[in-house]
Formats: sequence, structure tokens, C-alpha cells
Amino acid sequence: MTYTSIQSHLENPTYELRVAHLYGDLMNTYGDNGNILMLRYVGSKLNCEMIFDIVSLDDHFKADDYQLAFWGGGQDYEQGIIADHLSELTDELRSFIEAGKPMLAICGGYQMLGKSYTLADGRPIKCTGILGHVTENPGNDRIIGDVKIYNEDFDETYYGFENHGGRTYLAADEKPLGKVIYGGGNNGQSGEEGFIYKNTFGSYFHGPLLSRNARIAYRLVTTALKQKYGEAIELPAFEDILALEEAGQTISDAKRKA
Ligand code: GLN
Repeated sequence: MTYTSIQSHLENPTYELRVAHLYGDLMNTYGDNGNILMLRYVGSKLNCEMIFDIVSLDDHFKADDYQLAFWGGGQDYEQGIIADHLSELTDELRSFIEAGKPMLAICGGYQMLGKSYTLADGRPIKCTGILGHVTENPGNDRIIGDVKIYNEDFDETYYGFENHGGRTYLAADEKPLGKVIYGGGNNGQSGEEGFIYKNTFGSYFHGPLLSRNARIAYRLVTTALKQKYGEAIELPAFEDILALEEAGQTISDAKRKA
């Protein structure tokens, strides 16, 4: 049964968004739940009540019930467990994504959105097949460390920490979240990290991604608000509410140089 894990409890909210936290009880490695706290924080800056529901094994996810979705990372073990339950979710999640609703998927969640994930011993872990990327795990050779990428379309730089065995290869209709400046990225070779498809974002960044890259959090929440309340709503600019959080980004580079 879905249940609300946290919500903002604002006194007099102007807006309300309901977020599906997919398999949040099973897939939440390396601080990925910090993304939920960051979405709640950005919501509070926009006076938007944020309600987070855990949608997990055997739950019936309904695209219409949610304006935003988040799927965190997991170990191969948990990915194997949820693989048998994906059929409960796939059709509705496909409609959600194809409708252009905003979503973020990290690492294991990113892999599960794709066509296939093949373990080192050749066994496949069933994926949703909603998107076209494929992932292979060569075994005993994880990509671990700090990553910095640049997204040309948004002219934005993002920072993260990656720890994954899988190597992911994007489909032709997926764009990378960014070009790798340092770090391994999707597969250690393509020079690309993550993906963007419509308003769905995927990345190997733990850390968690949204706390270190506030512009992505702002984009997810404001996109959801405009879809629900209309393009014409007037929302405060990123610079007016989250400038300090962005300044924190540069700490990564400063530390690296020290
Ligand atoms: N099990 C996957 C891998 O190692 C995903 C790991 C993760 O989500 N951190 O590639």
C-alpha cells in the first residue's frame, strides 16, 4: 500500500505537489533520500506543500495522482527484488514520462528505466523498458569517485559522486545530462553522464544530486507547478531563492584543488 513518508506541513501554502517516491523503501543508496529533502526545501521556498508517497512492491501507481516522481539507486540485490514487480508500474509510469511530467532517477533507478541490465555473470535483471538505454555490468570494476559535467543546452555545470558497476549506453532519443569534465560518467568511455528524455532526468550522481545541483531541483519543482497550475503562474526566480545553495557547488572544485 502506498504511504506518505514525509510532507512539508506549511502553514498557508499557495500550491501543493504530490511526489511518487518509487520503491523508496528498497532503493535509497548513498544518501539518495537527500533528494527528497531537497525537493521539499525548494517547495518551501515556493510556498508549495510537498507530499511524498512511497510507491513500492505491488502498489498500483497511477500517473494522474502525481505531478513529480523520484527513483533512487539500489544494489543489484534490491534491483533483483523489484524486477518481478515492475509490471504493476510500467504502463502508468510510461504515460507519466511520455506526458512530459518531471522525474528524476538515480543510478539503479536510472538503470531500471531502461531496456536491460545485464549482471557480470550474464544474468539479466528485468527492467521497465520504458526508455531505450541498456546497461551491462563487467563485474569487479566499479566506477567510483567525484564527477563534474557540463550541460550545454542549459549552460549549467553539475557536481556529483558516482559509485556504480553498470555501464550504461544511451538510445538515440536520449540526450546526456552533461558532458564529462572529470569522472567516469555513463560508461567510462562515451564522455557522457546521465540522460534527459522529455522532462525525465537520469544520473549516476549520488551525493545526493539535488542538494549539490539546486538548479535541477528548481527545474523539477517549477516544471511540475506550471503543469499543474498553468504556465502563467508567477514564481520567484532561482537566483532570488536559491543563490546561496548554488554558491555551495564551487566547494567541490575548491576542495579538489586544495
Ligand atoms: N547496482 C547498480 C550498479 O552497481 C546500481 C548501483 C547504485 O544504484 N548505486 O551499477
